Amino acid sequence: MTIVWPDWIRINDNLRDLTPYGAPQVDVPNRLNTNENPYSLNSEIQKSIVSSIASHVENLNRYPDRDATKLRSSLAQFVNRQAGTNVDLKNIWAANGSNEILQSIALAFQGDALGFEPSYSMHPLISRAVGKKWHSIPRKTDFTIDIDSALNSIKKVRPGLIFITTPNNPTGGITDLDSISRIALAAREINAIVIVDEAYAEFSSQPSAVTLIEKFPHLIVSRTMSKAFAFAGVRLGYLIADPIIVDAMHLIRLPYHLSSLTQAAAISALENQELLLSDVKKIIESRHHLAKTLSDIGLIVMPSDANFLLVGGFSSEPQEIWKALVDQGILIRDVGIPGYLRITIGTESENQKLVSALKKLS
Ligand code: PMP
Repeated sequence: MTIVWPDWIRINDNLRDLTPYGAPQVDVPNRLNTNENPYSLNSEIQKSIVSSIASHVENLNRYPDRDATKLRSSLAQFVNRQAGTNVDLKNIWAANGSNEILQSIALAFQGDALGFEPSYSMHPLISRAVGKKWHSIPRKTDFTIDIDSALNSIKKVRPGLIFITTPNNPTGGITDLDSISRIALAAREINAIVIVDEAYAEFSSQPSAVTLIEKFPHLIVSRTMSKAFAFAGVRLGYLIADPIIVDAMHLIRLPYHLSSLTQAAAISALENQELLLSDVKKIIESRHHLAKTLSDIGLIVMPSDANFLLVGGFSSEPQEIWKALVDQGILIRDVGIPGYLRITIGTESENQKLVSALKKLS
């Protein structure tokens, strides 16, 4: 819903017609709508995080480490272990969620922004909010990127920022490294920055675009601890990039933007990464199982490398299905793609409840 601004409020023109980000927060027992990890932290990890935070409480009169050096080093080690790279803290920036990472990038660099839609709704919102023009390039009907037409659009529009989300939210599919490289080559011709948003990377069997940074210093990979790490409440996102990009982040960040409690919690989580990420395998298995079950009942399930499924082929309007599920205590997401709804993978029992509800509705 757009806001009607009274004359006395001199709202920035670029904000005037925007709608706030607004996934409905409905209090129902089964929340399968915001792609969170459905498993809460195990008690061993909880204890370790609490003791790590407790050790910082005495010093809360002091500002935190402004450059989050220990955290950024821990993140670099995690990335290297996952992607087989050799990055260090100079390649990492961290912020309050990857949304803040994306906003900092948009604030730092010149030019219009371009993305392949449907994709993450915050890319256009952040770009417009910082005063950029947004260019929406439609994906193909199977929701993959048409690379040839993407290259043409980049040549024509000459954006400063190009967003690629892989696995893509809300559709679930991936863009392979070869396609990303072709886009990065076109971007290099016009001095554009490529942002690869890998919020769901840990759920995917595809290699990370982190391996491309050495070849393409104008490519930034954005990541989050909100999904696979089951850490959405902490708000910790990070980027991996050439050190010159991290220099730009130092300019744009607000002083002491990451609280010492956030830094302590995230460092502790990274120390427990194996245990924390052990549920990822379970979620991937549940995704395979749910995708098969939903296809078996006649629904269309788009291929997904993430922790959610985009589902279509309902016998009635998706909005009616959405409402009927809410009435049964199950919240999924209407992402505005005609004919489809997005379902976050839940616990086995949540998934079963969803399947039996959908069976009755289909
Ligand atoms: N990128 C994508 C593609 C997302 O889906 C999300 C969360 N929905 C984010 C970034 C932001 O996540 P956070 O700010 O929690 O790190």
